[in-house]
Amino acid sequence: MKSFDALGLSGELVEVVRQLGFENPTPIQEKAIPVLLQGNTDLVGLAQTGTGKTAAFGLPLLELVNADNRHTQALVVAPTRELSVQITNDLERFANNFKKLNIVTVYGGASISDQIRKIKRGAQIIVATPGRLIDLLSRKVVDLTQIQYVVLDEADEMLNMGFKEDIDEILSTTPDTKNVWLFSATMPREVREIASNYMSNPQEIAMEGQKQGNENIDHQYVMVDERDKYLALKRFVDYTPDIFAVVFCRTKMDTQKIAEHLIKDGYNADPLHGDLTQAQRDRVMKSFKNKTLQLLVATDVAARGIDVSNITHVIHMNMPDEMEFYTHRSGRTARAGKKGISLAIVSKKEMGRVHQVEKSIKRKFTQVLVPTGDEVCQQKMMDLVKKVRSVEVNEEEIDSFLPEAYHELKDFSKEDIIKRFASIEFNRFLEYYRDARDINKSDKSEKRRFFEDEDEPAYSTGDRIFINIGKMDGLDKGSLLGLICDYGDTDKSKIGKIDLKGAYSFFEVEKGMADQIMKGFDGVEVRGRRVRLEMSGDRPERRDRDGYRGDRGGRGGRGDRGDRKRSFSGKKREEFWGGKNKRKPKRY
Ligand code: AMP
Repeated sequence: MKSFDALGLSGELVEVVRQLGFENPTPIQEKAIPVLLQGNTDLVGLAQTGTGKTAAFGLPLLELVNADNRHTQALVVAPTRELSVQITNDLERFANNFKKLNIVTVYGGASISDQIRKIKRGAQIIVATPGRLIDLLSRKVVDLTQIQYVVLDEADEMLNMGFKEDIDEILSTTPDTKNVWLFSATMPREVREIASNYMSNPQEIAMEGQKQGNENIDHQYVMVDERDKYLALKRFVDYTPDIFAVVFCRTKMDTQKIAEHLIKDGYNADPLHGDLTQAQRDRVMKSFKNKTLQLLVATDVAARGIDVSNITHVIHMNMPDEMEFYTHRSGRTARAGKKGISLAIVSKKEMGRVHQVEKSIKRKFTQVLVPTGDEVCQQKMMDLVKKVRSVEVNEEEIDSFLPEAYHELKDFSKEDIIKRFASIEFNRFLEYYRDARDINKSDKSEKRRFFEDEDEPAYSTGDRIFINIGKMDGLDKGSLLGLICDYGDTDKSKIGKIDLKGAYSFFEVEKGMADQIMKGFDGVEVRGRRVRLEMSGDRPERRDRDGYRGDRGGRGGRGDRGDRKRSFSGKKREEFWGGKNKRKPKRY
C-alpha cells in the first residue's frame, strides 16, 4: 500500500490529511489521486460512499484549482443538499490552509440571495444540487464558461432522481475542454450513456470486490407481520442500548409517523424528509452528527449520501423499491473501515426483494430473530450492570450524602439493595415486556393462536368486549370467567373466547348479552381503579396490544364517572389477588 506522500500530492495537503488522522490512502484514493493530478483526464470511478471518494477527487481538485484566479474553475454536482453540504465541509477541511480559495455550496430550500451573494464574491469551486444550479445559471449568476473540472458525484442517484435533463443542461454550458470525473456506486446503462456522451477515453477505476459491496456490512433480515414492524423496531432498539442508527422508510408519511411514534414512546428519534424546512433538516442533521440524536428516521432521498461516522445500524422498515437504494441505504454504516449492520425488517411478501438484493450485491443475508421480551430484559439488566461497573464515582462529593442513605438501607441485604436499585430503571421494561408475544414470523403458520392452552370457546361469533383488567391484575382465564359470570349475572355457556392480556383482556359473549354484562360491572373497582368495559369495536385493539409505550400505562386511564362504588371483597377478592397470585412476573 502506498502512503499519501507517494501519490503526488503537495507537502501541504499531505500534512492536512495527516492532521485529519488519515494514515493511509483508501484504495480509491490510491488509484484515483495520481490519475486526477495529471489534470487532463476524464475518469469514471465505481465507488460507493464510505470509500473515501470525496478526498479521492477533492484533494486533486485543490491542487489543480488556481486560488489566485477568481473564476469558477471546478463544479461538483451531487444529488442532495445533505451530500452537497457534506462535500463542501470535507473540501473546506482539506483546504484549511488555502486562504484565498472560496468554496460555495448551492442547493434548493435555502435562501437564494445568500447563495448569489457568496458566488458574486468569487467562487473557484461550486458544489451544487442540479435544480438550484440550473436556477442560478438561468439568472446568469453562475458562469461555467471557464470550468475545467466537473465532478458528478453519485451519478446513479442523480439519474434515479430524474436529474438526467438537468445534468445534460449543466454540462452543455461548460466548455469542451473540461474534464469530467464521474463517481457512481453502480453503473447502470444511463450512467454509461453520460460517460459516453460527455467524456473522451475516460479512465475507469473500480475497486476490487466493488460489486460485492462493503465487506464490513453485515446484512441481516428479520421476518415479521407487516403490522408488527414497529414493535420489532422497538425491540431491536431496546435490545441494543448503544444503537446509533438510520431508520429508512419508503415514504415521507411513514417516516414522519414512525419518528413521531418513537418520540412519543420515549426514544431519542427525529425525522428527516423533504417536507421539513431546510432549517429543520439542518437541525436534525446537526444533532445526528453530534450524536445527541440516536435514531434518524429518514426517506431514501433525504438521507442519501450522508456521512456520519460510527453509525452502528441501518434499519430498513421495508425493502426499497429500487435495487440501488439498498446499496445507498446500507452504505450509511460501516464507513471508513468500521463494521456495521444493515437490518431489513421484512414481511413475508418482501422476501423476494431480499433474494434479489442478495443476487445483486452477491452477499447473503443472515436471518435473525426479533428478541423476545425476556431477551430484551436480560440485555437491559446486563447493560445496567455494565453501567454500575463503569460509573465514575465522585468520591469526595458523594461522601457527605451517604451516611444517611447507609442508615436508611442498613436492614437490607446486598442482594436486596441490588434488586431495588436495578428496579428503579428496570421496572418499566419488566412491565412493558411482561406479556410481550413472540412476533417472529414463522414460514409455516400464517395464523397465530393467542392461547395455546385454551379450551374451545362456547361462542366465536358473539360480541367482543374489552375489559381493562388482565394478567397484571393476577387474573387467569378461569378467574376472569368467574368475575364475568358473577357481575354479569350469567353463566359460562354465554361466554366465548377469552383473550387474556397484560393490562386488559377481551372476551366474547353471546349476541344480546353485552349490555347486561357491561351494566353488571358498573361502579366496580379494583384497587381504586374503576373496571371499565367497552365493545371492542370502540377501541382499536392494535394500539394497546404490545403497543406504543405511550399507551402502556393506559389501564384505567379514562375511568367511568359512575356514582356507585363497588369493589371486590371477601372470598372473591382472595381468589382475585390471593393464592395463585400471578402478579409476580414469571420470567424473573
Ligand atoms: P466518503 O466516501 O468520501 O464519504 O468518506 C467516508 C469517510 O471516510 C469520511 O468520514 C472521511 O473523512 C473518511 N476518510 C476518507 N479518506 C480516509 C482515509 N484515507 N483514512 C481514513 N478515513 C478516511
